[in-house]
Amino acid sequence: MSIENLYPKKSLGQNFLKDPHYLGKIVDAAQVGPRDQVIEIGPGLGHLTRALADTGCKLLILELDDRLIPRLHDEFASRPMIQVVHADALEYDYSGLSGTWKVVANLPYYISTAIIQKLVAQRGRFTTLTLMLQKEVAERIAADPGGKEYGFLSVLVQYAAVPRLEFSVPAGAFTPRPKVDSTVLTLTMRERPETVAIDEALFLRVIKAAFSQRRKTLRNSLGQLGYPGELMGAVKEGTGIDLGRRAETLSVPEFCRLANFFSSKHNKTTG
Ligand code: SAM
Repeated sequence: MSIENLYPKKSLGQNFLKDPHYLGKIVDAAQVGPRDQVIEIGPGLGHLTRALADTGCKLLILELDDRLIPRLHDEFASRPMIQVVHADALEYDYSGLSGTWKVVANLPYYISTAIIQKLVAQRGRFTTLTLMLQKEVAERIAADPGGKEYGFLSVLVQYAAVPRLEFSVPAGAFTPRPKVDSTVLTLTMRERPETVAIDEALFLRVIKAAFSQRRKTLRNSLGQLGYPGELMGAVKEGTGIDLGRRAETLSVPEFCRLANFFSSKHNKTTG
């Protein structure tokens, strides 16, 4: 049976993109050239892989579906610039990579937010991530404060990276056709966040709590962090941020200021 006849696994988010027009646009958006090291997550049948390889870049391709691995090996393993790895991109140890890398992927949508969280947490290793995503997810990541798309994912990602919405891709360009609209997004990793969160774990807890009840004021939603009323009462003076505001109105640096305030006061009270 030809690999092209293998049935696509819905459980692995297999919507293959063969249209050379869109493949070329993804490679252009990622600005891949011969000096780049590129990780492709989920090469599938290798269409995007071929377009990337044509630029002369070094490629590491991570594929989970064991049915596809022999075919990828047959086609690419003889090319010294391409390394085929049978791996779950969510489990892969990116810390072992040397140098900096670009990530380019038509992501399986069922893991897209988990993958993005994993990659942005290692921002020093990557320069750009150019990702095909479900349109709503791409828009949430790139959203500015003030609107209903702006949330936990926007703050988490924009802390580490500058997002750029590239172009949308119609469902008909994929096989099989997905039920959702798709958009390519590039994240350019920041060398340094605009405002550094001193305790990143606390920063994450603050944004998670703030957006867990996004219609409530920060005074209410941040209550679950368990800080004493006295400390909450000092936030305005310490940060300039009014806890009568709602989470969606705060910029990323304001969330950092809030987390840094809690972390400095917490350290003082706990010694
Ligand atoms: N790059 C190909 C293309 O554009 O036609 C395939 C894209 S398809 C949307 C997603 C690919 O990711 C599939 O090949 C799927 O098997 C693979 N995949 C799914 N889950 C994965 C995981 N956890 N780690 C690595 N690859 C995965």
